[in-house]
Amino acid sequence: MSPRTPVPRPKPSGAALPDEIFAGFAGAPMQARNAPGPLTEERARAVLATVPDPEIPSVMLPDLGVIRGVEVTGDAVTVRMSPTYTGCPATDLMQMMIREQLTATGFASVTVDLVLSPPWSSDDITAEGRRKMAAAGIAPPAHRATDKRHLTGTLPDVACPHCGSADTVMTSAFGATACKALWRCNACQEPFDYFKCI
Ligand SMILES: [Zn+2]
Repeated sequence: MSPRTPVPRPKPSGAALPDEIFAGFAGAPMQARNAPGPLTEERARAVLATVPDPEIPSVMLPDLGVIRGVEVTGDAVTVRMSPTYTGCPATDLMQMMIREQLTATGFASVTVDLVLSPPWSSDDITAEGRRKMAAAGIAPPAHRATDKRHLTGTLPDVACPHCGSADTVMTSAFGATACKALWRCNACQEPFDYFKCI
């Protein structure tokens, strides 16, 4: 059994997350939720494919590999989701966005269950997710999550997401968020975030 975490409504009714939070993201069309049609698992998954990672908005939740299951019974949907890492501040926001979007689609009951085992790791990021990360200027994890060289001070070879050069150097162990490090490319001189293997 996975731990069942009730997700409270984020705000009083009438104060839904504004569409602008979603609408500006590349690859996040709103048609999935607005199109009429039966409430199926396929439909729910299409809606989830429009919900972005709050910290890397061009990468959608299925690209991250955090969606572990979707079950539709009538007008009720249960989404099983793994947090990217314990204590990640984006987890609450992901749950809120899932609830908002599936409710807006017409599901009368939306449950988000957090799946802690097996835990998510950066290995779960899909090929599509890695491509979108690189396109956003963020170097995707270069090695398997079991590779802990970033913890021991031995740095992995990280290719620059801008020019592809391997002549790169870490300038800070923490970038825009705790799960990223700040690197710089010696070839094109551009700084970039590197998504750590976690
Ligand atoms: Zn470069």
